[in-house]
Amino acid sequence: MSTNPDVRQAVVDTAMEMFTIGLVVGTAGNVSGRLADGSVAMTPSSVPYPDITLPGLAIVDLDGEIVEGSARPSSEKAMHLNCYRSFPEVGGVVHCHPAHASMFAIARRAIPACIEEVIVYIGGDIPVAEYRTTGSDELADEVVRHLGARGAVLMANHGLLCVGKSPEDALHTAAVVEHTAKIVAGAEALGGVVPLPDEIIENFTNIYGMIRGSWQPPHLAEAS
Ligand code: 13P
Ligand code: ZN
Repeated sequence: MSTNPDVRQAVVDTAMEMFTIGLVVGTAGNVSGRLADGSVAMTPSSVPYPDITLPGLAIVDLDGEIVEGSARPSSEKAMHLNCYRSFPEVGGVVHCHPAHASMFAIARRAIPACIEEVIVYIGGDIPVAEYRTTGSDELADEVVRHLGARGAVLMANHGLLCVGKSPEDALHTAAVVEHTAKIVAGAEALGGVVPLPDEIIENFTNIYGMIRGSWQPPHLAEAS
């Protein structure tokens, strides 16, 4: 049984923060974190954020089997678990429906990496994964296809998914994406986005690679 209360507490706190800062409304969105034994703590499906408690989290293994508790895991369980299986360095995943990022997702337009911090935290443009049905294995595969060199992906006609070294880190990335989406939409109204110089893009892309390479989620830290 997994015993790390900090990652579980981080999932509860990050979920509440995501709700408080307005990246979701109602019970939309979900958050997870990788525990020291390799299992995953995940928000329960369709529970209002203020009601999500530490014992109310779903604890599942990487195959999706419930290993602890009686909570029904998020309906996006497959998408979260595919991120952990595909990227051993990932320690936290958030999925949300922020208004401005979702505008780009619905228009099926990538958010351009026209601000340095976007490249540092996300690794480049925020791509759009093709539409697949909510909660499906096909959505999980389509989203992961875009995440190797990126920390965030827009989900066509749906919302946003971000990965991080921890749940808090993934939420920070989601906030950067939403902030950028707002700025880019405004810049387009002012006449259009002017790209960063190529050399700057290359330098900051390398920085993202270094940062991502340094992530050490609990299950890897314990092994080293
Ligand atoms: P859950 O409440 O099941 O996590 O679903 C919310 C959501 O955003 C589905 O895409
Ligand atoms: Zn959703």
